[in-house]
Amino acid sequence: MSATADFVVVGAGIVGLATALEVQRREPGARIVVIEKEAEPALHQTGRNSGVIHAGVYYTPGSARARFCREGKTEMAEFCTAEGIAWERCGKLIVAVDAPEAERLGALARRAAENGVEVEPLTGAEARALEPAIMAEAALWSPTTGIVDYGAVARRMARILADRGAVLRFGVAVAGAREGAAGVTLDLADGSRLEAGRAVVCAGLQADRMARAFGAEVDFRIIPFRGEYFRIRNQPPDLVRRLIYPVPDPARPFLGVHLTRKLDGGLTVGPNAVLAAAREGYGREVSGRDLADSLGYGGFWRLLARHGRAALDEARGSLSKAAYLAKVRRYCPQIGLDDLVPYRPGIRAQAVGRDGRILDDFLFVATPRSLHVCNAPSPAATAALPIARHVVDRLLAEA
Ligand SMILES: Cc1cc2nc3c(=O)[nH]c(=O)nc-3n(C[C@H](O)[C@H](O)[C@H](O)COP(=O)(O)OP(=O)(O)OC[C@H]3O[C@@H](n4cnc5c(N)ncnc54)[C@H](O)[C@@H]3O)c2cc1C
Repeated sequence: MSATADFVVVGAGIVGLATALEVQRREPGARIVVIEKEAEPALHQTGRNSGVIHAGVYYTPGSARARFCREGKTEMAEFCTAEGIAWERCGKLIVAVDAPEAERLGALARRAAENGVEVEPLTGAEARALEPAIMAEAALWSPTTGIVDYGAVARRMARILADRGAVLRFGVAVAGAREGAAGVTLDLADGSRLEAGRAVVCAGLQADRMARAFGAEVDFRIIPFRGEYFRIRNQPPDLVRRLIYPVPDPARPFLGVHLTRKLDGGLTVGPNAVLAAAREGYGREVSGRDLADSLGYGGFWRLLARHGRAALDEARGSLSKAAYLAKVRRYCPQIGLDDLVPYRPGIRAQAVGRDGRILDDFLFVATPRSLHVCNAPSPAATAALPIARHVVDRLLAEA
């Protein structure tokens, strides 16, 4: 059995859904199909993240990450306001707990300025006046950081798409693909086929496999990094009223465990960044295929050579709640072991190059009839709307 479409989007995470919406806006009347292997949208990264609308402080000036984050935070807020989805601009404090960290804050402030992102340096006393539960030698205040539930955003996007005539097929995986001069043929796991003029693939943790299935030459591999969170209990609901982040460690690729306010009034701490043995193994499962893909990749071993100490430290924090707690207590000493209740983990899809480098920027790879979003790490949820615009610009330009 075979069906036809003008455009097919693989993956109903926030990037795929935002892209499908953008195609629908730009090509009214086009037949759009979204294919998702899970039973509903946002079951992977999009529904398992910190829910932060990032301001864009950290990213390399001039990178797609910096630009799309800056644009995306405003567009995400506008989208949510227009759609009646709860969000809040609560702001965040990046807190330095000692002199070397305070020095690194200066560099972060300069980077934020280069990125056109508003931040305000605070003394330790000023930071503690805002957040009395926090230890700080100095801090950087980012007033434009916010919070939202990206799962709710994705579900709304799916509903808008369906209301406007797109077909969303859940519970069926794309198993293979062939490209011809006129379009793409997708083989679906249920044995059916889908013929489409063009395809956009936003497959997150499966991005490298999907790109290869479409015949793209890709020189990276997705390495899964598990991010574990705890919900905080026993503490006053206003323990902190803003998001609290540590100063990022330059030896580590991720931002460090942070205190994140939730829209339901709760508070979480996390995520750490632990090398995972399964791309979608939220219960710490081991996948033979995923493990072989990581261990059989030279880039993985070079990554370990670069970040081996950090990887061991993260593994320790994962196995020992006390080690995890120590990271939080550096800046919020009143949280205790009994206050931490496990919360749903997420797994980051991080592209790693053959040389062991973590690919910093968003990565898009084109084949003749399709475009692949190959690396969309944080802040890709914040930046989903500008990413979608970029993808559709390229897709239509190459038509
Ligand atoms: C722990 C963690 C914390 C984060 N915190 C933040 C944050 O606070 N702010 C922020 O902006 N970003 C954050 N991010 C990053 C953000 O969540 C991701 O960048 C974003 O969700 C990526 O969206 P996506 O649509 O590309 O991927 P995903 O949401 O992973 O969606 C990919 C989809 O493709 C589907 N798929 C894969 N293969 C196939 C196939 N063969 N056939 C059909 N469907 C397929 C999957 O089932 C999945 O639904 C965080 C990520 C993690 C993991």
